[in-house]
Amino acid sequence: MRNFLSSIFLLLGLSLSTLAYANQQLPTDEPVGGEPFGHSVTMLGNGIYVFRWWVYRNIFIVTDDGVIVTDPMNPKAAKLLQAEIRKVTDKPVKYVVYSHNHHDHISGGVIFKQEGAKFVGHENVLKELGDHPSPVTPLPDITFKDRHTLKLGGRTLELEYYGPNHGNSLAVMRLPKEKILFIVDIVTPRRVAFRMMPDFWPDEWIRSLKEIEATDFDYVISGHGPHTQPAIDTANVVMEQRVYLEDLMAAVKKAMDSGMHSPDALRKSVKLPKYKAWRSYDEWLPMNIERIWAFYHMGW
Ligand SMILES: [Zn+2]
Repeated sequence: MRNFLSSIFLLLGLSLSTLAYANQQLPTDEPVGGEPFGHSVTMLGNGIYVFRWWVYRNIFIVTDDGVIVTDPMNPKAAKLLQAEIRKVTDKPVKYVVYSHNHHDHISGGVIFKQEGAKFVGHENVLKELGDHPSPVTPLPDITFKDRHTLKLGGRTLELEYYGPNHGNSLAVMRLPKEKILFIVDIVTPRRVAFRMMPDFWPDEWIRSLKEIEATDFDYVISGHGPHTQPAIDTANVVMEQRVYLEDLMAAVKKAMDSGMHSPDALRKSVKLPKYKAWRSYDEWLPMNIERIWAFYHMGW
C-alpha cells in the first residue's frame, strides 16, 4: 500500500495542476481579491478521492456498498461534489462525516440527506448546531464521544477526538490501512495560522498535535489548500505545524517578557523569518501575533 501511494504521491504535482483546471464550471462569480473559486478532484487510488472547492478540501471514499463523504462545505460546493461522485460511481452516499461544527465546512449536506445519507459527528457538533442552527446543515444522526469506527463495504474510517483545540468538536479522520489522516483546520501545511486564529485554543492545539504525532500514519490530507498545493502531504506536516505554533508563542512571550505589552508594537516588531516562505506570512503573521498576545495577556 505504501509503495502504491508513494507512486501516486509523486504524480500529484503533475496531475493536480491539470485537474485544477479540468472543470471550468465555476459555482459563482469570482471572489473580489484572493484565491479564485474553482474545483478539482484528485484520485489517490483505492477509492479515495480528494475534492477541492476554492481553498476548501474534503475526502470521499467509494466502496462496494456506497460512498462516505466528509465535510460537504456549502450548498454550491456540495452540488459540484455530488456531480463529481456521480462521474465515478452510481452507488449512493451512505454517510456524511462532519470534521467539526463550523458552518463554512459542513453546510452543504441537504442534497446527501435527500439521497438517504446518515450524518456523523462528534457529540459537541450536535450541541453547537443546537446553539447556532443553520437551515442548510442537517444535524448528525450518529454521534460519538472519544472515538468512532465507521465501516462501509469493507472499508474503515476512524474518527478520533483529541479534546478542545479548534472549537471543541473536532474529529481527526483516519484511513488506517492506507495510514492517511484527513485533518481539518488544525493542520494547514506551509501556511501560517489562519488570521486571528478564530476559535483556536493555542495551548490545546499544540497538545492535540503532539498526541496526533505520536500515532501511526504516513500521509496527511488537510482541509484547506489552494490548487497550487498538493492534495496529500507526508506526515511531517503535523510536526511542522506544531513547531510553528511553538515558535510563534515563544517569540511573542519573549517580547512581552522584555516589556513589550502593546499588541500594536508586538505586531510590528515580532518576526519569524524561518517561515517567510509560508503562505500568508506577511498578511496574517501580525494577526497570529495579536492572538497570542491575547492568550498571554488575558489567559484566553
Ligand atoms: Zn473551523
